[in-house]
Amino acid sequence: MKYDVVVIGAGPAGCVTARFVAETGAKVLIIERRQEVGVPVLCGEGISRKIDSWDMLEGDRWIAGRMDGARIYSPDGTMVKLSADMAGNETGYVVYRDIFDQELARRAVKAGAKLMLNTMAVGLIKEKNKIKGVKAKRFDEKFDIHANIVVGADGVESKVGQWAGIDTCLKTKDLETCAQYTLTNVDCKDAYCDFYLGKHIAPGGYIWVFPKGKDVANVGIGILASLSKPGLAKKLLDKFIENDPRLKKGEPIRFLAGAVPVANPVETVRDNFILVGDSARQVDPITGGGLTHCLEGGKIAGEVIGKAVKQKDYSKEMLSEYETKWKKAFGKKLKRNYMVKEIMLDMDDKTFNMLADSLKDYKFEELSTLSLITALVKKHPTLLIKLRPLMKVSKEIKE
Ligand SMILES: Cc1cc2nc3c(=O)[nH]c(=O)nc-3n(C[C@H](O)[C@H](O)[C@H](O)COP(=O)(O)OP(=O)(O)OC[C@H]3O[C@@H](n4cnc5c(N)ncnc54)[C@H](O)[C@@H]3O)c2cc1C
Repeated sequence: MKYDVVVIGAGPAGCVTARFVAETGAKVLIIERRQEVGVPVLCGEGISRKIDSWDMLEGDRWIAGRMDGARIYSPDGTMVKLSADMAGNETGYVVYRDIFDQELARRAVKAGAKLMLNTMAVGLIKEKNKIKGVKAKRFDEKFDIHANIVVGADGVESKVGQWAGIDTCLKTKDLETCAQYTLTNVDCKDAYCDFYLGKHIAPGGYIWVFPKGKDVANVGIGILASLSKPGLAKKLLDKFIENDPRLKKGEPIRFLAGAVPVANPVETVRDNFILVGDSARQVDPITGGGLTHCLEGGKIAGEVIGKAVKQKDYSKEMLSEYETKWKKAFGKKLKRNYMVKEIMLDMDDKTFNMLADSLKDYKFEELSTLSLITALVKKHPTLLIKLRPLMKVSKEIKE
């Protein structure tokens, strides 16, 4: 088997990359170890409305709900409400993640990509230390797929990056342990995404309740692995559900546990090789959201790879345009938000309550980290010293 490009993983990052490679006319194959794209779903399923202008998804089968805003609850229950006009683009959609992923796969295949399910990458083919393709396994059959460029889009548990010599190891302080239900028979009429913070609610993370229609909700928890122990995420989530009047009569139609990286991004390019999506740690360290970055990063990766194939230049120098461009598009934001995550980890519940209290009536003109910091500094000028570095980066990236 010989392709210009092999993509490992048919998640959003892999499918979008493959689509944009295929659109340049290059021969691309996606291999996916699962038997169905997008299944099982392990995701909060929330995404920003900025994807509207990106031409990634057609129709609206993938939309479970259009949100009017977001509400953030501090440990003592103080609510900061960010309505659609305040929150602008950031309050978006709750999606059906299985359909969402399958739509992205459909666009990739429509553009000319081949998709092979039940096929797992087990290693890289290397000749004279150069990556030349992927060693794969399908049921009991082992075979080689030769390619000039390999894309690692194998998600949070990525092994492919390590095979290519990139250190993708995650420390426990840079990993959220998650548990997530889809609950039915709940009473979530408001089209608001709710976030609950607090050391006793979700240490180093949060609980989310995202409505997916009038009586279904995606309810989950992420807690920092360094503050967790086996079973804690589910235990805290169950306790929260039992005590929430909207949710306590709910019955799960889906339960899954997993993880999300909340780390600084890693290097993403080698000769003949690119990493994209969760495997590149392109996830917001505050929210754990990665979907928009998969779409944005995947498009950049696909276009740069297409150019490399045309010019028959698969070198790190050629492919580095991808790293430069994604860092410009959202890399600085990820780095800044990693700093915010570290600051938040130092905060106790009392501080969260105090901050929520001072923000609860603040009239935001937009939702951005810069506007949050500005509001906090206006209310508490003593915070300026601590928040000055964040303000500086936020002004640079205008977010
Ligand atoms: C509980 C939870 C809630 C989340 N909620 C949100 C949210 O609300 N909003 C948001 O934006 N983000 C959210 N995220 C993050 C989001 O799900 C990820 O950022 C996104 O799925 C990353 O996409 P990806 O394509 O990089 O990886 P994935 O979606 O993980 O896809 C990787 C694919 O690679 C395949 N694969 C892995 N290894 C191999 C191999 N060796 N061979 C072949 N195939 C392989 C896997 O089977 C998988 O299909 C959440 C994550 C979790 C865990």
